[in-house]
Amino acid sequence: MLVCKFGGTSMANSSTISKVADIVLADKERKYVVVSAPGKREKDDTKVTDLLYKCFDEAAECGNCSKSFAIIRTRFEEIIEGLNIDLDLSEDFEQIEKNINASVTPDYAASRGEYLAAKVLAKKIGYDFLDAAEFFKFSDERFQFHYSLDLLKTTLAEHPYAVIPGFYGSNAEGEIKTFSRGGSDISGAVVARAADARIYENWTDVNGFMSADPRIVENPANIEFLSYRELRELAYMGANVLHPESIFPVRSVGIPINIKNTFEPSHKGTMIVPDDKVSDNTNIITGIAGKKGFTIILVEKSMMNAEVGFCRKVLSVLEYENISFEHMPSGIDTLCVVVSDDLIKNKMQKVVEKVRESVNADNVELHSGISLIATVGRNMAARQGTASTLFSALAKAKINIRMIDQGSSELNIIVGVDTQDYESAINAIYYAFKG
Ligand code: ADP
Ligand code: ASP
Ligand code: MG
Repeated sequence: MLVCKFGGTSMANSSTISKVADIVLADKERKYVVVSAPGKREKDDTKVTDLLYKCFDEAAECGNCSKSFAIIRTRFEEIIEGLNIDLDLSEDFEQIEKNINASVTPDYAASRGEYLAAKVLAKKIGYDFLDAAEFFKFSDERFQFHYSLDLLKTTLAEHPYAVIPGFYGSNAEGEIKTFSRGGSDISGAVVARAADARIYENWTDVNGFMSADPRIVENPANIEFLSYRELRELAYMGANVLHPESIFPVRSVGIPINIKNTFEPSHKGTMIVPDDKVSDNTNIITGIAGKKGFTIILVEKSMMNAEVGFCRKVLSVLEYENISFEHMPSGIDTLCVVVSDDLIKNKMQKVVEKVRESVNADNVELHSGISLIATVGRNMAARQGTASTLFSALAKAKINIRMIDQGSSELNIIVGVDTQDYESAINAIYYAFKG
């Protein structure tokens, strides 16, 4: 059997939801369907989830979200009318608006897009609607995977065909909790695991994973097969086709993830499979991904490498300030720690002073406006010259490399560049390996 998850663009309006219904009903194996809230209908549109967060903010400010909520209500009413289904959600709309006005929680507000979308699709295809709050369980903000899996297995046993809203669950007090943004991918993976699916189909608006972000590189090549490890690196480093955490529920039992295009269902898409099942190919690199918004903390001290406990002292400062780090390449007399701008932004001066003091550094500097780019490939370790191709490409494009880190897995090389060079660096790397 198959578990499918449909993303926001697939659920955007009645005509895309009709395509979703056709896809699900075309194969009796598609027994469980996880949905996102309606996303953008066109480039400048607003996702329902973002509208719901806006409702929460409005209600928190003035106790009334009726203006933004009316837009959401109209969107769903248009969808119901366009699908020609006999479904009256007015009680839900009234209850939700009332709860948001009472400033329940931002998580509650945000989750209602998925809740309503699942009700609509369930009606359209004649499947049961199951509320994710009943079996996706959180405790202290953390998702309780094994407990939820048990609850979900029991529920699914009683419902052979069902639509389940993605993105949210609830805690022991019954309050709604959400995953981070894009989290319906995680919900889909959990359902795939509970249902022991043959494949977890993740339906979106592109023909699978591409070797670079299609918004940056023109017409990047499609990736036919990707290993779980490569997916993890690419997704974590910004290839937001799939949530980086969506791999954990399926990885240990080897359920493949198939990224498919709702708007071109016959395309094979990308198969994400266990590391030892990935088919051989000759590509040196599999893909490139990147993220903006980092700061490098550069610590200089002569003979730093001979000083026992040097890194620990620097990292203790970050730990005390509650700042996690992404990378930490080091030289003989220098250490670079890469952290996200969001975590350090209000503490910059404090961190510089404390680090300088903690190790008696000769110099501590911060370089902001850094973007990280990961070049990922399972074949990289076995090939000579990968790094030289990458660095020559960046040099040729006159891009200054601020930081280099090759993961110990030799699955990726990460470079830090100034954010103004981000797009051109990705293009330079892409074309250098395109062959
Ligand atoms: P959904 O709403 O279906 O969950 P997302 O917007 O989360 O879809 O993810 C799909 C989008 O990810 C694509 O439309 C594309 O713009 C973007 N994207 C970023 N990097 C890549 C990549 N390497 N390959 C394919 N798509 C990518
Ligand atoms: N609707 C949520 C979001 O926009 C979750 C998702 O789409 O996966 O982040
Ligand atoms: Mg998504």
